[in-house]
Amino acid sequence: MSNIRPEEVISVLRNEILNYEDKTAVAEIGTVIQAGDGIATVYGLTRAMYGELVTFETGVEGIVQSLESKTAGVVLLGSDHGIVEGSRVTRSGKKAGVPVGEAMIGRVVNALGEPIDGRGPIQTSETRPIENPAPGVVERKSVTVPMATGILAIDSMFPIGRGQRELIIGDRQTGKTSIAVDTILNQKGGDVICIYVAIGQKASTVAQLVNTLQKYDAMDYTVVVSASASDLAPLQYIAPYAGTAMAEYFMYKGRDVLIVYDDLSKHAVAYRAMSLLLKRPPGREAYPGDVFYLHSRLLERSSRLDDEHGGGSITALPIIETLAGDVSAYIPTNVISITDGQIFLESELFFSGVRPAVNVGLSVSRVGGAAQTKALKKASGNLRIDLAQYREMEVFTQFSSDLDASTKELLDYGDRLIEMLKQPLSRPMSLHDQVISLVAATNKLMLSVPVREIKRFQREMLDYMEEKHGELVEKIEKEKVLTDEMIQEIVAGVKEYKESLELTPEAGVPLEKK
Ligand code: ATP
Ligand code: MG
Repeated sequence: MSNIRPEEVISVLRNEILNYEDKTAVAEIGTVIQAGDGIATVYGLTRAMYGELVTFETGVEGIVQSLESKTAGVVLLGSDHGIVEGSRVTRSGKKAGVPVGEAMIGRVVNALGEPIDGRGPIQTSETRPIENPAPGVVERKSVTVPMATGILAIDSMFPIGRGQRELIIGDRQTGKTSIAVDTILNQKGGDVICIYVAIGQKASTVAQLVNTLQKYDAMDYTVVVSASASDLAPLQYIAPYAGTAMAEYFMYKGRDVLIVYDDLSKHAVAYRAMSLLLKRPPGREAYPGDVFYLHSRLLERSSRLDDEHGGGSITALPIIETLAGDVSAYIPTNVISITDGQIFLESELFFSGVRPAVNVGLSVSRVGGAAQTKALKKASGNLRIDLAQYREMEVFTQFSSDLDASTKELLDYGDRLIEMLKQPLSRPMSLHDQVISLVAATNKLMLSVPVREIKRFQREMLDYMEEKHGELVEKIEKEKVLTDEMIQEIVAGVKEYKESLELTPEAGVPLEKK
């Protein structure tokens, strides 16, 4: 030990450092051994990084996805036409990236950030890597600002905060996409930028969705990233990361972003297809072993930065499709464990006309409570518990005919709550409409209204309040509080309105103005 001389160590280190540049020189060329199904096996490229962008001699780009001692597996981001055994592949030394910037807003792009809306090139010079480490714990701040969905059933019972990750989960055709789209529509006139990532959907479905967004002027603050079912699996695989890169651009500029991944079930399937072609060993349900990491590293990138880092945020609404309501399948359990809660949509409710079909018992929002406005928190009160009690009682009394008065009232009350929470598409509710509806219902002012007239009663009552109690409405919107006096004023106002109506619940006659 004692005969090691410092000079020697230094000269060895110096040599190592001098030679280091040499060894990692970027200009390295590989040769295709085999190509097909959007995957190429390339000999050479031994110093390529995982996730590095490479270029084939046809001009098509690819991403290095698996590294072995002599070969690399590359997924193609374009057609494999012309790529044959012996084709040359050049390293770029860069990770794959997508264009980002203000100019993306209002556009429909593919997974590579290229426009597919026929509206010409996008004027932006900045790019960001599609894979990026999530902000560290010390850079983050807790969730305190609401991300209002405008959907009464969600904002009242499962409030979402900026920076939160709330899963929307349910069988096919239960209104999952509609919840995400309505949330985007509700950001109109606000300061939130929205990014909708479509993965593995039919191109016509996405076109319809873009139409809806245009119709309600929501494209003014929205980017749509689409990797449709007919796109290559690698494009479907990178789409959500590409969308997140675009979101990060805004977050690091201090802005608030809402990102929707529709849906991650199809994303996992695309990744499985890609992994099997790359000859990775299949595991449970034939997914590769790292399928958890696929979604955890994606969703970790949604967060709220502290003021030192600009205070921006990304709120994520990932969507998962279940089969026959089975939330314990592999991919659903993974994503449930990664997110901060879930909105569980149920076919049975959906078909019985309860839309949005939110299952109150199985849905939860873990961090959003801290972000809910004081007004909504107070107005919602025991809504969740009341509804759970009602559901229990409903099953219990299904076959009994003579109910005691208190049970009957509980059922009547529950029927009306359910009715009040129904909400048509594309009709986001403002904070004051939500607060007034909740106060009216929980103070049992709707008990005397026939169930099938509840929606109309609610609508007309809200118009009446806006007209006759404008100051109160304004106060709720501005100060976002609800004092006991304000509750009294709402109750008095709703009673006033009811007096102007003729209510004949027994006869079941529709409401009539006197
Ligand atoms: P998929 O599994 O096909 O992606 P999904 O779960 O995303 O379906 P949506 O496409 O959002 O479901 O909705 C399915 C249908 O239900 C649509 O035709 C939509 O218009 C209708 N729908 C959704 N929510 C409501 C609602 N609140 N009121 C009335 N109709 C609704
Ligand atoms: Mg959908």
